[in-house]
Amino acid sequence: MTEKIPNKNRDSNPIEITKNIVRLYPICPECLGRQFALLGTNMANSERAESLLNTIIMQIHNDYYNMNQAVDQVENQDVSKELALLTKIAENTTSTVVKPLLRKLSNSYTESKAEFHCAICNNVFLQTNEIIDKIIEQTREFEFSNFLIGTSINPIFQEKEDEFRVKLNITTGEAFKKNLNRLVGIELAKKWDLPVEFKEPEVNIIIDLDLHDFKIDIVSNPLCVQGRYHKYERGIPQTHWPHRACHGKGCKECNVTGKQYPTSVEELLTPFIQKYSLGTDSKFHGAGREDIDARCLGNGRPFIIEIKEPKKRSLDLQKIENEIKEQVGKRVDAINLKFVPRSKIKKIKSRGEKTRKSYRAFIESKNPITKEEFEEKFNAAKKQVIGKTIYQRTPTRVAHRRADKTREKEIYKLNGEWIDELHIIVDIEAMGGTYIKEFISSDNQRTTPNLSSLLDRSLTCENLDVTSVKKITNGK
Ligand SMILES: [Zn+2]
Ligand SMILES: [Zn+2]
Repeated sequence: MTEKIPNKNRDSNPIEITKNIVRLYPICPECLGRQFALLGTNMANSERAESLLNTIIMQIHNDYYNMNQAVDQVENQDVSKELALLTKIAENTTSTVVKPLLRKLSNSYTESKAEFHCAICNNVFLQTNEIIDKIIEQTREFEFSNFLIGTSINPIFQEKEDEFRVKLNITTGEAFKKNLNRLVGIELAKKWDLPVEFKEPEVNIIIDLDLHDFKIDIVSNPLCVQGRYHKYERGIPQTHWPHRACHGKGCKECNVTGKQYPTSVEELLTPFIQKYSLGTDSKFHGAGREDIDARCLGNGRPFIIEIKEPKKRSLDLQKIENEIKEQVGKRVDAINLKFVPRSKIKKIKSRGEKTRKSYRAFIESKNPITKEEFEEKFNAAKKQVIGKTIYQRTPTRVAHRRADKTREKEIYKLNGEWIDELHIIVDIEAMGGTYIKEFISSDNQRTTPNLSSLLDRSLTCENLDVTSVKKITNGK
């Protein structure tokens, strides 16, 4: 690419630029048309190239007639100049109409035997069928209903084309990658009868283009299944907990399982989705979490199971719900399963704080309390608590894994029932994230106000169940 442009007059007319290009460089239709991609709409770059070349060919043919009619006045040199440009078009483009015309106009024309080689793309755009075949081959094992093509190119391609554009005064081009993505995308959309999806494609197909070969990478994006779970058995954490002593590596104490608890809601539910989606990994996202020893009843807690690199996406969710119920339904179950976009994960995670949760607490009192005293003090407590701000410093029991700070929470409803002098049952509806056990025990006055102080007794929460999780609407 060291030749000078013969025409010093830097014209921005696409026809003149095209003449300059074909005088200097072998160029394929896509690479030629791409230089004028901003001109005209609803046209493929190859159509732009064809229009430009055909116009030039017709112009030359017209000039040739005029010159031949006035052959006496015209120098023979002009005719050969025109024929020379026509010969360049034959050598430097893949135009199929130029060669028959040359043969007709010039007895001395001999076809070049040299193999065509596009100076801009190394013939990538002439071999898109190979790229497409390879993509079809490599995506065969994946099920998807939309896709997006992306290209990663050796920077030399870009440098070459930038240099070329400066030299030829081209300001109307589009990017190499954009051209290839669109071309391959349109072709595959037709072959698969599937749409190209720009926002959240199920599959990203990356064409990794080096100077003389290419590679295809398939990224199957996560499949997200949302639902609500119930936990009917105490002692099950929401997600897999690595054994504290060995950090999950597996030791004698944990029986080489690496687990602090034998199972979790995550481990009980995920396999039912994993076995049909055939992913490589998974993640469990809950809208908040209940304590390990609390059950989760009522309408259940929202969660999303994210399957990484799934091969199958059209799962029968009703069948999965039934299988869960049959096989682990005594401990946990999952209802209202549905497919959701990945963006839902963020929403569900932040939702823990924006929910109202109802709990039933079974409480034991250290000192006896009569029914009368309970009712009097509990009614007074309700006035102190409902609709008021509760201040909770990070509980002692979670201080090792959560920042030590004071959080403001709210209790929406509070109802109590006296069982005997040492036992009461309390129903509490509170803002998501409220530490209920500490609201009952006071946690050495780290939570204020608290039920122990209000009832003037040392209270402990013996059992806790989540009875409902509601989304807050209208602000609360
Ligand atoms: Zn090319
Ligand atoms: Zn261990």
